[in-house]
Order: sequence, then structure tokens, then C-alpha cells
Amino acid sequence: MTDAAEAKKSKVGTLYVVATPIGNLDDMSARALKVLADVALIAAEDTRHSIRLMQHFGIGTPLAACHEHNERNEGGRFLERLLAGDDVALVSDAGTPLISDPGYHLVRQVRAAGLPVVPVPGACALIAALSAAGLPSDRFIFEGFLPAKAAGRRTRLEHVKEEPRTLIFYEAPHRILECLEDMQAIFGDERPAVLAREISKTFETIRSLPLGELRAFVAGDSNQQRGECVVLVGGWSAPEEGELVDKQAQRVLGLLLAEMPLKKAAALAAEITGVRKNVLYQFALSLQKGQ
Ligand code: SAM
Repeated sequence: MTDAAEAKKSKVGTLYVVATPIGNLDDMSARALKVLADVALIAAEDTRHSIRLMQHFGIGTPLAACHEHNERNEGGRFLERLLAGDDVALVSDAGTPLISDPGYHLVRQVRAAGLPVVPVPGACALIAALSAAGLPSDRFIFEGFLPAKAAGRRTRLEHVKEEPRTLIFYEAPHRILECLEDMQAIFGDERPAVLAREISKTFETIRSLPLGELRAFVAGDSNQQRGECVVLVGGWSAPEEGELVDKQAQRVLGLLLAEMPLKKAAALAAEITGVRKNVLYQFALSLQKGQ
């Protein structure tokens, strides 16, 4: 028996976690529409936002606020309805609730009370971005939003610098450029990256470039600093045997670093020694940090 069927039998309600579109309203699933129309109450991140979506689809179910400021304390209100046998749907402003959105505390409370929580899958920006990015998708990590302040952001990026899985970040448009600048400085110019902007909307752009070029592309076009975006970065790959920076390459790099900026020195040393530019770049960065 499914969780929802068991709940019906024991006369308690089910909490449905319902994904809504991240731009294109045609991405609303038939099942999501049915659940939203059938439940007794919709717990919404922003009722004013969700009411427009419900009106668009002709859904008249009552809405109640469930946002990050009240979900801890007022989750009990939804729990009471569930215990009384009413089904409740949880939605956020866009995409899948709980994914950089409210809902975690409510889901936890409901599960802790032994009541069923049923996902109604649909759009999620990180998964949509990953599905089209062309970066390894077998293993990835989602880092959500980076800290807004530069120091916190850099610390977090340093933590994942040698992470071999594909990295996925959400970022606000007004911080996208500084975020890419920090990524370039920490991960290196050559790390493959993808900017997935305005997915499923009119100005959807999915641009795949090495980090240095991606930063330059965004810096040179203010349109790329607008709208919603996901940044994906290829995982770190350990230098292969033979690609390690041998004594000769270290010597060449050291001499060049004394004469020119790090990026240029790494590029020139790569040409002279045949060692990959990114490997030398990372090595030069570690030398600088060690000084
Ligand atoms: N719960 C949502 C989900 O399932 O993806 C994410 C909500 S989070 C508050 C909003 C962030 O998701 C945006 O700042 C952006 O990074 C990303 N995002 C949402 N919609 C997007 C879209 N259409 N294109 C690109 N990124 C999007």
C-alpha cells in the first residue's frame, strides 16, 4: 500500500511536496495540477506569488503562508490540519520546495509525527541545468547559494577547490560577475564551466566555456548579468602521472614568475615544458600562497 493510501485508511492527511515551473508554465505537470486542486490547503512560500499561478490554472484551493520566518513555529498549524485528515500541498515560488527554498522544517515535523510526505516531482533549476550542461552528471554536488560577502564566498570555494565531482551553484544576477571572478581566481582559468541562465524562459542561455573565458563573456555583456542563473563547474582532476610539476618545470616557472604576472608565467612555462597550463597555474598559486 502506498503512503498516501495508508494515510487515507488511518484517516490522517498527506503532505504533498509539489514542484512548480521555474519559468515556463507549460512545465506544470498534470499530476501537480490534480494534487493542488484536490488538497484542502496549499502551504505557499509567498501566497501573493502562488495565487497568480493558481489563478492561471483555475485552482481555487485556499493558500496559507509557509515561509522561512514562520515555518518552524507555524508548522504546527499545518500538522493540525493533517492530523484532522486534510491533505496539504507545499509549494515554493518556483521549482522544487526545500531546494534553496523553505519547507525543510515542515517536512521534518510532519515525518517526525509519522505522517506521510509524498513528493510530486517537477522542475528544479539545478537538475535542468545539469541535464543540458555537458559536464559529468554521474556524480555532482549542489552547493546552493554561496555567501554574499566576498570573504565567505572565497572560503567556501577554497573548500571545494579539489572536489572531483561536478559543482553546482545558484547565484543572484547582481553577484554573478564577482562570483565568476572568485571562481576563476580559485579554480583557475582553464576549469570547464557552464552558465545556465533563464532556463525555460525567453532569454534562456546555456554557455559552456573555460572559467576565464566565461568570466570575460559575462563581464563584456551586461545582459548576462540579468535574470536567474545556475553556475556549474567541472570537478577537479588530479594531475596525471608525468603531469606533476617536475624540478625542471618548477625552475622555469620560478624564473618566469619573477618577471611577469602569474597567468602569463604559467602559460609561457606550459609552452616551454609541455606541462598543462592549468597544472602550472595551480602550482604557481600554491607557491604564492606559501610565501
Ligand atoms: N526551488 C528552486 C529550484 O527547484 O530550482 C530554486 C529556488 S532558489 C530561491 C532560486 C534560484 O534558483 C535562482 O536564484 C537561480 O539561481 C535558480 N533558478 C531558478 N529558476 C531558474 C531559471 N529559470 N534559470 C536559471 N536558474 C534558475
